[in-house]
Amino acid sequence: LSFAYYASIALDRGTYYRMSEDLKKISVTDSLTGLFNKNYFQERLFEEIERSKRYNEPFTLFMIDIDDFKALNDKYGHLAGDDALKRVARAVGDSVRSIDVVSRWGGEEFCVILPYTNKAKALFTAERIRRSIKDIRFIGGLIPPDVTISVSVGMAEFPADASDIEDLVNKSDKAMYLAKAKGKNTIISYGK
Ligand code: GH3
Ligand code: MG
Ligand code: MG
Repeated sequence: LSFAYYASIALDRGTYYRMSEDLKKISVTDSLTGLFNKNYFQERLFEEIERSKRYNEPFTLFMIDIDDFKALNDKYGHLAGDDALKRVARAVGDSVRSIDVVSRWGGEEFCVILPYTNKAKALFTAERIRRSIKDIRFIGGLIPPDVTISVSVGMAEFPADASDIEDLVNKSDKAMYLAKAKGKNTIISYGK
């Protein structure tokens, strides 16, 4: 191999640093919505549980699932669905504090960690999220302007409702499914 070959792949320190920062960002980000991805979210959840135990402070987890999203996709197409996902992601992000962690859990599901917050207090944020998504208007895009979307939200609190990550995720999930059963566009607190 020639010297020129090595020279072509050698990067100066500044470029290398910027690249590693970019890679770090990519590895924690969901590419469609720009929110954190599930991997990073699970790491943060672990950290939050440790912090909660150490400082004896509660925190709340939201599981958010878009209602009847399959029908929206079927009617207006996958690209329209992607557009709706981006709008929902932005609405969630705009409804929370900077210390809250918002991520895309999977397909059309999102979750939020609210540090130092019990369910009673978190309910106000959940309601803000629910309303801001209901208020989204699609103008000049693939989705007709009279179409609205809604979400079902399940909330569970650590450590009051759960003893570990899996338990907490399961309980917020359970609450979310109860919100679906109660007619969707609804927030349910686990155990209530
Ligand atoms: P429910 O009210 O019970 O939640 O019904 P739903 O239709 O929202 O639930 P279901 O799980 O049946 O459908 C979820 C749909 O989300 C199916 C799948 O095609 C769609 N979906 C998942 N990920 C993406 C994505 O990245 N882009 C788009 N456009 N659609 C997605
Ligand atoms: Mg779902
Ligand atoms: Mg859904």
